[in-house]
Amino acid sequence: MPNQAGRRVRCRTCNSEAIITKGGTGEITCSDVAADPPMLVGKRYRCEACATEALVIRVGLGEPVCCDAPMTLSKPKETKSAD
Ligand SMILES: [Zn+2]
Repeated sequence: MPNQAGRRVRCRTCNSEAIITKGGTGEITCSDVAADPPMLVGKRYRCEACATEALVIRVGLGEPVCCDAPMTLSKPKETKSAD
């Protein structure tokens, strides 16, 4: 089932849970391997391949995987500071 905005994905192994904020053609799974940094509540992940975005709502040990690759941790947008 492809990623659909608003759908929750949960890992049965590490108990992490994320909500898809932007849909894509891929399917999010969990790496099931302890990641560094681990999935933390409030972190956003993005798939470079299908542009899916997910927000972590429950902490877990693994990291989200989509389109056969670990998802990229989105950094909060920084406001440009004028010199
Ligand atoms: Zn993807």
